[in-house]
Formats: sequence, C-alpha cells, structure tokens
Amino acid sequence: MSETGAALQRAGQRLTPQRLAIADALARTGKEATVQELYEQVRRRHPYVGRATIFRAVDMLVDAGLAQRLERPGHVSAYVWCAPGHHHHLICTSCRSVEELDEAAVTPLLGTIARRRGFRVDHATLDFYGECRDCRN
Ligand SMILES: [Zn+2]
Ligand SMILES: [Zn+2]
Repeated sequence: MSETGAALQRAGQRLTPQRLAIADALARTGKEATVQELYEQVRRRHPYVGRATIFRAVDMLVDAGLAQRLERPGHVSAYVWCAPGHHHHLICTSCRSVEELDEAAVTPLLGTIARRRGFRVDHATLDFYGECRDCRN
C-alpha cells in the first residue's frame, strides 16, 4: 500500500481507487492545486473520475486533516497535501510549490504577541506567501 493510502486508512477513510488516485495526485505534486488541476491530472489515468468526485475527495481530505485549503487571488480555492502534525506553510506564488514550516519557526512570534498584546495564542495556522529559493535564483 502506498504511503498516501496508509495515511487515508489511519484517518479512518474508506479507500476507493478514485480517492487514492486523487490523494496521490495531491501528495505527489508538492504544490498547491485547484480542483480543476487535480481533475486534469487524475483524468489521464482515471478518465471516469468526475469533477464532483474530486470536490468530495478534497473535502474529505481536509476533514481528515490530510489537506489544507488555501485561497488564491480571485477567491479560487487550492489544496495542499499535509503531513500529519501541526505546521505552517510557505507558499511560492511563482511556481506554486508549498513547503512546510514547523512550529518552532513560529514560536517566537507567539511570544511577541503575548508580551506586546497580552494575548495568549492557543493555535494558529499561518500561510506565508512569497518566492521560494528556486524561483529567487
Ligand atoms: Zn501542510
Ligand atoms: Zn517557487
């Protein structure tokens, strides 16, 4: 079984070939992807998969904590595969690659907020948009 399949099963999700194909497509790109982009990719190997199936599958992945929804300009939703464990994202607006940023990088910011604003942050999910190392070179 693929790593993606194992993650789906651990999350208590019913495994169907379509769901697995969609999850694999998202997990493999290493980028954020819209439903339309996933649809075009999955359809090459699974021509019977409809757009509605992709919508349902990404919703299921988000509910299961295996994907996160991001917003592109113009209120377009994109999705990114998420490894288990809390983390944040670095999203490249040029190549659409998504890197995970662990909690340790954000902890100093939470300390600053507590000191300056007296606000204790319980949880935060931060998406940083910019240009990745490859695109800057
Ligand atoms: Zn993630
Ligand atoms: Zn980039």
